[in-house]
Amino acid sequence: MKEYDLVIGLEIHAEVNTNTKVFCACKNTFGEEPNTNCCPVCIGLPGALPVLNKKAVEYTIKTGLCVGSEITSLAVFERKNYFYPDLAKAYQISQLVKPICIGGGIELESGKYIRLNRIHLEEDAGKLIHKTKTIGTLVDYNRGGIPLMEVVTEPDFSSADEAVEFLDKLRRIMIYAGVAKCKMEEGGMRCDVNLSVKEKGSTKLGTRTEMKNLNSFKMVKRAIEYEAKRQVEEISAGKIIIQQTRKWDDNKGKSYAMRTKGNSHDYRYFPDPDLLTVQIDSSSAQEIKKSIPLLAQDRMVIYTQKYGLPEYDARILTNEKFISDYFEDCLKLFDNPKQISNWIMTHILRILKEKPCEDLNEVISVKNLIEIIKMTEQKEISRPNAYELFNSICFTNLKAKDVAKQKGMLLVFSESKLEELIDEVLKTYSNALANFDKTPEKVINFYTGKVMGLSKGLANPQKIQAMLSEKIKSKL
Ligand SMILES: [Zn+2]
Repeated sequence: MKEYDLVIGLEIHAEVNTNTKVFCACKNTFGEEPNTNCCPVCIGLPGALPVLNKKAVEYTIKTGLCVGSEITSLAVFERKNYFYPDLAKAYQISQLVKPICIGGGIELESGKYIRLNRIHLEEDAGKLIHKTKTIGTLVDYNRGGIPLMEVVTEPDFSSADEAVEFLDKLRRIMIYAGVAKCKMEEGGMRCDVNLSVKEKGSTKLGTRTEMKNLNSFKMVKRAIEYEAKRQVEEISAGKIIIQQTRKWDDNKGKSYAMRTKGNSHDYRYFPDPDLLTVQIDSSSAQEIKKSIPLLAQDRMVIYTQKYGLPEYDARILTNEKFISDYFEDCLKLFDNPKQISNWIMTHILRILKEKPCEDLNEVISVKNLIEIIKMTEQKEISRPNAYELFNSICFTNLKAKDVAKQKGMLLVFSESKLEELIDEVLKTYSNALANFDKTPEKVINFYTGKVMGLSKGLANPQKIQAMLSEKIKSKL
């Protein structure tokens, strides 16, 4: 049996994180009532004129600068003409010949460099909602005109895992740079996969198919693996691959032919006469460059090398910027990265899974978390009580220390009170003392257990042990 190589290219659409749409003043939001967030411009009424959103251009430039693209000095918006019910104007404003960013790339962990062809800015289309047979299909134009960045890679991937790793890296870059939220479950980041197979070692490329709008990493992986297998089977059976767009059905785990795929000339692109050419001078690009914060990759290096965290921790903490920011705020109050990381990963992220939010301070404030960690460290509270305290103050404005006091969790036994209890157990169980010479540790533990019992678990066991051994030694 012949062996085949995979050749994969990706086109990623990410909704740009602006306040308003790309050519009008409608809000850039998600989840509004259908057709309540649109205007003459974004539904393309005759005579309505688009006005370019400067921020959307800046964010596209910023993305390009993060991945080493060349920023063009003249960017042109063009009309991509096609008819589809979700596109009221029958053309989409996009970029073909002069995109904002050219080239660049992202390096994978293996050292392989994935080249970018371009990053351009365009508008999103509306959304079709397929109802029952009697109702038919409805259309919601709210999404029409939301700014989209399209990142186009060269066909440099040779496996599904490489594609997923790249997507994760790109997602982190965009989130940290603040240019996109990349909420995949809301369609804020979608991926088209172009895939062909060729005989191993051959330089002749096979015919490619395209799968559109994959909106989770898992879906991308499954779709690539399925399509590669399908193409190899077709070729092995003597059939030819047809250049077409295929729809991935994630429930069935299969892809279906949708339509034969057109080429860019089929869309009759031409410069949009309603929009001016965009001039980007190098000084404004430099200004934008200065605004790029430390990205996830940079933070991972700091976490592992400076703070000594395992790579596993560093990856999870940097997975979302708001988690990483919270971790760093905690560090400002308490310099113990591993303890903080443990609490975030075991306790806070567990809660986040059940109740998603984008600011961990809503779960528990930095101050409260550090208070609990400190109390545990200083043995003012037992570990089980610390976990209980954490759970009882999540999503509240209560103060950790106050609640610990109210619930009697603080291990605050005065020395004299402890001494009383120690004297009491030494007297009650005086027989045990005879074994101190042979098994001192056992005896101390025995008495400690008794004192803890009298204190109802509220005393500090280390403290009792220290006091006990001194007391016994002085008696002997
Ligand atoms: Zn609008």
